Amino acid sequence: MESDKKTKLFAPVGKKMARGILDIVLPPDGTASHKTVSEDWASFVYLDEPCCDRCGFPFDYSRGTGEVCARCMVDPPIFDGARSALQYEEESSAPILSFKHGGRTRHLERFAQQMVRAGRTFWPKADVLVPVPLHFLRLRKRKFNQAALLARVMSEKTGLPCRADYLWRHKPTTSQGLQTAKGRFRNVQGAFSVPEDIKPEIKGKNIVIIDDVYTTGATLEACTRTLRRAGANKIYAVTLARVVRDQEIPT
Ligand SMILES: [Zn+2]
Repeated sequence: MESDKKTKLFAPVGKKMARGILDIVLPPDGTASHKTVSEDWASFVYLDEPCCDRCGFPFDYSRGTGEVCARCMVDPPIFDGARSALQYEEESSAPILSFKHGGRTRHLERFAQQMVRAGRTFWPKADVLVPVPLHFLRLRKRKFNQAALLARVMSEKTGLPCRADYLWRHKPTTSQGLQTAKGRFRNVQGAFSVPEDIKPEIKGKNIVIIDDVYTTGATLEACTRTLRRAGANKIYAVTLARVVRDQEIPT
């Protein structure tokens, strides 16, 4: 059983990955920033354990294995677990936004490496990586999907296949940036679907959703709902960064 897991972990990437390539058009690398890469990396806040077992919210001290945060205790997310590599704050936001919107890929390799670290407990259980898709119109404008770029490099590092064709965003949602938590959930409701011919493949799979920033979890929850309806088993999420603010506990 253990050797099966190992074989799977280091198996070649999925044969249908080529379909996902449609979602990945490599942007030009950028060197416009005056900061060096190592200066950027020294100023980031790295997220790791101890954290909420469910959503990855960082704790100041260990509360024991399997402990969840106050918010997850009251209103647990529908995904089975989420982890993030970096805290999204002043220092990390510039390189992340320049990667997301400006196509600056100089950090891509290290971003993906940190995400592999953050999601390390998921890899032995996972079957496939699925990047959060962009709507076609946004993909055309931006020229690349940053989540798919991250997922592709993570696929090389973990040996897990990357399948950008499992999820489609058929609703051109507005930017999540300035919206309230409720607005974010409404915005992505019904935005994703699984192509009919993919559904039989998804049945029973353990999936890790890959995205850039975890803000309220609305996008991850919408993707989880769609994949679960299509028959997926366990669904985890790994994001590059996460907004960490005092928790509002729903009443
Ligand atoms: Zn939590």
